[in-house]
Amino acid sequence: MGLIVQKFGGSSVADAAHVMNVARIVTDTYKEGNDVVVVVSAQGNTTDDLITKALEINPKATKREMDMLLSAGEQISIALLSMAIDSLGYPAISLLGWQAGFETNSKYGSARIKSIRTDRLLLELGKKNIVIVAGFQGLCKYDDITTLGRGGSDTSAVAIAAALRADRCQIFTDVEGVYTADPHKVKGVKKLSEITYDEMLELATLGAQVLNNRSVEMAKKYNVELEVLSSLNPVSGTIVKEVAKMEKMLVRGVTKDTNVARISIIGVPDVPGIAFKIFSKLAAKRINVDIILQSVGRDNTKDISFTVSRDNGPKAVELLENFNLLDGKKIVCDRDVAKISVVGAGMETHPGTASKMFEALFSVDVNIQMISTSEIKISVLISASDAERAVNAVHRAFIPEE
Ligand code: ASP
Ligand code: MG
Repeated sequence: MGLIVQKFGGSSVADAAHVMNVARIVTDTYKEGNDVVVVVSAQGNTTDDLITKALEINPKATKREMDMLLSAGEQISIALLSMAIDSLGYPAISLLGWQAGFETNSKYGSARIKSIRTDRLLLELGKKNIVIVAGFQGLCKYDDITTLGRGGSDTSAVAIAAALRADRCQIFTDVEGVYTADPHKVKGVKKLSEITYDEMLELATLGAQVLNNRSVEMAKKYNVELEVLSSLNPVSGTIVKEVAKMEKMLVRGVTKDTNVARISIIGVPDVPGIAFKIFSKLAAKRINVDIILQSVGRDNTKDISFTVSRDNGPKAVELLENFNLLDGKKIVCDRDVAKISVVGAGMETHPGTASKMFEALFSVDVNIQMISTSEIKISVLISASDAERAVNAVHRAFIPEE
């Protein structure tokens, strides 16, 4: 018995049958004697559809009005789920973000939660209601509805779990947990029983779409243990927590990220301050740089290459082309690249991880353009057309098939 927060994503509440399925999961938890707070997303593609509707009318709609519109998706889900639970004979009440006490800053479209006033939540739990909260939304100091950014319902769930000091926070989704690679693209993937917050953050950032990044950051900050599991298949999922037990494998996952572009500046002067000037220019325009490579100087010049997200590529090139320091220098942008990474805590203390990865790439004849390493990951930049082959080969090398 305890307090359990359960979050269900859009695909888990897509239609009436799915909503009834969620109602059964929730009431089963309640029947065991638990207090239950449920956070839901908008049904299926509702959020995308609402965005399309807005664009048809005004492509320059303000963020405030977009938030007003998009928050409606979750309003539908909470009411339907509450009705479904009622039809099964259990007490439930639906609450919008503001009713559940979500206070955010006023950054419409990507608001941050400042605090949760828990009195209403506690009052309803005290009445033995199953409390159903609209994810992804809150209220700012101007009494306007805000949204937390796409995929923000995960963050709503973690925030409630932290505020109420819940005993468990379960994130139900359409996959059975976190895998060693994208199950749709890579053969022989395995479901992880446990993973640390940092590993999960790397996997989330690198494109394993199971949990929203900010929700993992928040879970780490407030030490909320997360359980990722399927709403359709009642098997154990993946636990995300501070220290995960080391399974036999050191590498937890292999990811492929194609949202990247490589920019090279050829023949910049080999003098102090050049890197500083180039990268502060990019930083001032909030262009995030990932892997950086600088060649050894020759004839008083050197080449600098770095990666940015693919959509930032043209913007970065334009910025550098108009930078007088680089007048007449050749600037190339390659958008046909992909980043393959292996992720796992403790990598720095295990020799041989990098060479094993490079051997796997060599075995399928893939050329490496750039390399970067951190405590918990090794990334390589390769040609996009090699990506699928590379990710499979690297996965095979680290996560042997059973
Ligand atoms: N409905 C919102 C979205 O589609 C929030 C969420 O699903 O978490 O982004
Ligand atoms: Mg979603």
